[in-house]
Amino acid sequence: MRKTCKQLHKILKKGKVFDFEAGKDFRAYLNSFSNFPDNGIYYMFEEGEAGHKDKRIVRIGINRQGTLAHRLNTHINGTVRNSIFRKHLFRILGIEKKVFQHIQKEISFCVINDPDNRRKEIEKKSIGEVSNCRACMPSRNWLGLKSETKRIKESGLWNVHHVFGEDRLNNNDLKYIEDNLVVAKTVKKGGGNSLFQ
Ligand SMILES: [Zn+2]
Repeated sequence: MRKTCKQLHKILKKGKVFDFEAGKDFRAYLNSFSNFPDNGIYYMFEEGEAGHKDKRIVRIGINRQGTLAHRLNTHINGTVRNSIFRKHLFRILGIEKKVFQHIQKEISFCVINDPDNRRKEIEKKSIGEVSNCRACMPSRNWLGLKSETKRIKESGLWNVHHVFGEDRLNNNDLKYIEDNLVVAKTVKKGGGNSLFQ
């Protein structure tokens, strides 16, 4: 078995885990962290899903337009048109309220900053890595198994693009992820929590 996916999970374990508990006030919640990255990559986890004896990554994404906080907000407070993730959930759960509640209660995430503008590449390689990892299979109860999208069901990821792709993370990529990870240790200072040590 390739060790890279395990290493990725190990790195993310040191990251600050954000959740969507704030719901409608999610944007304000993120804004309360004074230096939440403008651009970055997010790795999502879902309740009940385990991989490498840790939280299993269930979705990987980045911000293309707008900020990372804006992108993450569209997942919980957006529409099926501006969030593909919502669209996948909506097709299974059937009503917007259930989609909102599922994201609010079951999904959490870590983020990495992207000072060198490498997020497209890192996203692609991360999805290639995790979707091809045999230690990252979904549990029998994973909601995504009800999806009609074959790539979701088979990969255990709420992703379609780059799933089962050939590109993989190398040591340099892992170092970039580790160096730019928003870490668990937060310092409350003035108006907001500092996310970097
Ligand atoms: Zn894995």
